Amino acid sequence: RTPTTYFYSSESEVRHLLRPRDRFSHKGSFGHALLLVGSYGKIGAGVLASRACLRSGVGLLSVQVPRCGYEILQTTVPEAMCQPDGHLHILTGQTELEAPELSSYSAIGVGPGIGTAPETLSMLRKLLSEAKKPMVIDADAINLIAQNRELIDKIPKNSILTPHPKEFERLTRRWTSDYDKLGILRDFAQRNRFVVVLKGAHTAIATPDGTTHFNSTGNPGMSTGGTGDVLTGILTALIAQGYDPVEAAVLGVFEHGRAGDRAAENRGQIGLTASDIIEALRWD
Ligand code: AMP
Ligand code: MG
Repeated sequence: RTPTTYFYSSESEVRHLLRPRDRFSHKGSFGHALLLVGSYGKIGAGVLASRACLRSGVGLLSVQVPRCGYEILQTTVPEAMCQPDGHLHILTGQTELEAPELSSYSAIGVGPGIGTAPETLSMLRKLLSEAKKPMVIDADAINLIAQNRELIDKIPKNSILTPHPKEFERLTRRWTSDYDKLGILRDFAQRNRFVVVLKGAHTAIATPDGTTHFNSTGNPGMSTGGTGDVLTGILTALIAQGYDPVEAAVLGVFEHGRAGDRAAENRGQIGLTASDIIEALRWD
């Protein structure tokens, strides 16, 4: 293996990536994101991702959920437009209303709470083959890809994948040491031309050019359900606003951790929830 270049994302290096808002901006200036999220019993994952997306500067947000999630989404996230899927409980990709063309969205995020039903796999297969731009791919979308490995080649180049260690192991293989793990991460990102965000304490972000960035923010209070769904919403919002995927990953992971640190100051680590992270997001 050739040596990897490692970076440590410190405040001064990351914060200058953030772009200030132009005085004459309008919502069209900040992109239109589409999130495909949720299944029966896991609509909350979609709510968290949607709220985090809106708290991260997106201009417009559309959310596709199974029909059972329609009222929940519209009630808990009134800022989002909601497309009820054709199916009651799972995501199949079919909408009752005429869904806009994928090309009209500036970013697509998929995975939180979607489950692994066969119909959801068909949805993902279609989505990957039709999407032309880098996407954000998380959670059960990663698990479905791990189970159907031919899909790896269908993922648009420069997409951001956000596995936690278990999901990354399913996607690649079991590692023998931390050194081995970082090698697998680097090779997987470089070979497939993905940005891979391997989550955990000091999240490692591997890029298509073979470099790896370690994050400096975050705390063990964030080891609780839903915090990863929040990150998916953040990253989808940044891509929608035109950040390049590597910048989006480095900046988004940093701010997610910073919000987690702020939330832990208020609440302590033990009582911290994913919703607290969303409320603690502060970009300027
Ligand atoms: P997920 O497993 O998909 O819910 O994602 C968990 C999120 O919480 C990721 O963004 C992790 O980086 C973050 N997280 C979990 N545990 C820790 C920790 N001990 N220190 C820092 N961040 C953490
Ligand atoms: Mg997750």
